[in-house]
Amino acid sequence: MEVLLHEDLAALSDLDEQSLLESLSQRFKQDRIYTYIGDILVAINPFKYLPLYEKEVSERYKYHEKTKLPPHIFAVADRAYQSMLGRLATGPRNQCIVISGESGAGKTESTKLLLRQIMELCRANSQLEQQILQVNPLLEAFGNAQTVMNDNSSRFGKYIQLRFHNSSVKGAKINEYLLEKSRVVHQDEGERNFHIFYCMLAGISPDDKDMYGLLDPTQYRYLNGRYGSEDIVRKWGEKYSEVCNAMDMVGFEEQEKVDMMTILAGILSLGNIMFEPTETDALRVTDKSMGWLKATAGQFGVQEEELLRSLTCTLSVTRGEAIRRLHNQQQAEDARDSIAKVAYGRVFGWIVSKVNELLAPNVDFDVELSEIGILDIFGFENFAVNRFEQLCINLANEQLQYFFNHHIFLMEQIEYKEEGIEWESISFKDNKPILDLFLTKPIGILSLLDEQSAFPQASDRDFVDKLNSKFKSSPHYEVVRSHSPLFTVVHYAGKVQYNGLGFLEKNRDTIPASIRSLFINSVTPLLSLLFAATISRTGTLMPRKAKLMQKADDNFNSTRKQSVGAQFKHSLAVLMEKMFVASPHFVRCIKPNGSKLPDQVDNKIVMDQLRYNGLLETIRIRRDGFSWRPSFKEFAQRYNILLIKPDLPLTKESCMSILNTTKIHGWKCGSSRMFFKYWHQEELARLLERLGKAA
Ligand code: ADP
Ligand code: MG
Repeated sequence: MEVLLHEDLAALSDLDEQSLLESLSQRFKQDRIYTYIGDILVAINPFKYLPLYEKEVSERYKYHEKTKLPPHIFAVADRAYQSMLGRLATGPRNQCIVISGESGAGKTESTKLLLRQIMELCRANSQLEQQILQVNPLLEAFGNAQTVMNDNSSRFGKYIQLRFHNSSVKGAKINEYLLEKSRVVHQDEGERNFHIFYCMLAGISPDDKDMYGLLDPTQYRYLNGRYGSEDIVRKWGEKYSEVCNAMDMVGFEEQEKVDMMTILAGILSLGNIMFEPTETDALRVTDKSMGWLKATAGQFGVQEEELLRSLTCTLSVTRGEAIRRLHNQQQAEDARDSIAKVAYGRVFGWIVSKVNELLAPNVDFDVELSEIGILDIFGFENFAVNRFEQLCINLANEQLQYFFNHHIFLMEQIEYKEEGIEWESISFKDNKPILDLFLTKPIGILSLLDEQSAFPQASDRDFVDKLNSKFKSSPHYEVVRSHSPLFTVVHYAGKVQYNGLGFLEKNRDTIPASIRSLFINSVTPLLSLLFAATISRTGTLMPRKAKLMQKADDNFNSTRKQSVGAQFKHSLAVLMEKMFVASPHFVRCIKPNGSKLPDQVDNKIVMDQLRYNGLLETIRIRRDGFSWRPSFKEFAQRYNILLIKPDLPLTKESCMSILNTTKIHGWKCGSSRMFFKYWHQEELARLLERLGKAA
């Protein structure tokens, strides 16, 4: 029984999938949701309140010794913070905490707890800390929604960078990835639109409701004509005041808030505009929705006729001649939905860039800042139908898995070899070939997608045919025989079949010129700004003029802008560059069952996640591996005091004699450095402490 309660599974003696699963689930049944595997933290979502995060717990975990307290997310915060300050073993000062797991596994909650604890650790500038903590409710209101998997599911990925000078926080920066804009116009059964719409409708005062032209929530098609029970509505209302407070705290201006809400109201009205064919070829807005057209124009601050025109026809310029092409009903509805998506996407992007502006570090240029980054990004997805969004998400997960493998496996193996240490090599699934399948130029999946996206006449079928002909013999690609443009990628976590329908359009993501000029001419200042500006690749919003001056040949133009795939590839590359030079910390979140229930473990569901996460292989390597490797000099300098011989030469022999006076076992000696298990460091620290007390 005792074995089952191990807090560090790297110490388990007989290790297989079954014992890993049993240990985790035994612990979970006693509400021990956290378990270490070496220095990786496994967190199982309890789906219930546990008294784990109170003030005194937070205090206890500050500057603590890891082995003295049970595993905890606060311990990860403490370790990252102390490593950032250089108080623990050597290594890069910058830290990154990678939180992974599938939807509903607890990534975002873990992120919030980490942020909170790190802010506790660096009590110094309380206003900035409060601002940083307020960013979350704000982003969640606009970027989260209820899904089948999770009532508060993040529909975007984020990397939060906290920037420090010495021990105090100086600023923060958020990078957001792939907001699921399609949710604005469509939600599947049992799901909802982004929280903010419901919160706004529930929390707004009657006067403001009139001012924004908001009507009864059940009227709106984009909300599926659904609202909520009294109970839920009250909660939404409370959340709305929270969001408003957060906006004040972070530093949004009153006018900006008003504009933002007006745009949201406009999006809701827009969704109710319906079309019908006339006897002639033309299309018209149904009588019933004329009022919605008027309302939308008013809320967006644009001319009604102009709005109507951009919904019902496309203007294209060919050889200096303007040609107007009338939409059919489907095209008009698509135009309507794409206006809604682009407007919402721009508002979200603007909030993030505004937050970044307001929380930018206010320090001299010559002051060096260190960073703790926290990555909270969607886990691997494999649905009944997988689209462009899933492809991007799964690519990100391949990249993260690669990073993980690289660190845990390759680094170990390479160094042991170099140091002449004997160690049975552990086989693992290297997913580099799958990454190459996506990213290689000029014939990776993304490059081929860009190539096809550049042809206005190309179809999704053409794209998939191209993939088939290029990759039919790749072991990570499978051709699917079907009338639909399907293809299969063999990911590290399993096979995923993608439906290529819509790939080209989503990848291009162009805004028709007419829609752009419609909004640039809006009398709502924020709307006009959002469309006059271009979002730079680093996520900051730049007015077009400033950007033009900065770089005359920049592709700000909608026709020549970067594709979504290329942008995503770029932001992934930037992220990886940061992560590869930081000290990583891994938190693996696990969902105990598929029904969001407390105290229930579904073995199959958990086992699948353990496999996807590579946790079993990790446990093996962590137990066998040496995670701390000081050079002889480093070690002798730091611990010569244990021999009470300060003038000891800083050599291999000295290191050995120091260690021989202790009762520490299991370390190894390489050709240039010492190799210790992760717990040795703490044993040594204890010896130093005892010596200090004795003196
Ligand atoms: P993810 O971001 O991985 O999709 P979340 O972090 O949003 O998942 O967690 C989903 C839900 O699970 C939360 O809304 C919360 O109800 C519950 N949950 C997650 N972590 C905890 C925790 N540590 N304690 C209690 N409930 C939790
Ligand atoms: Mg989340």
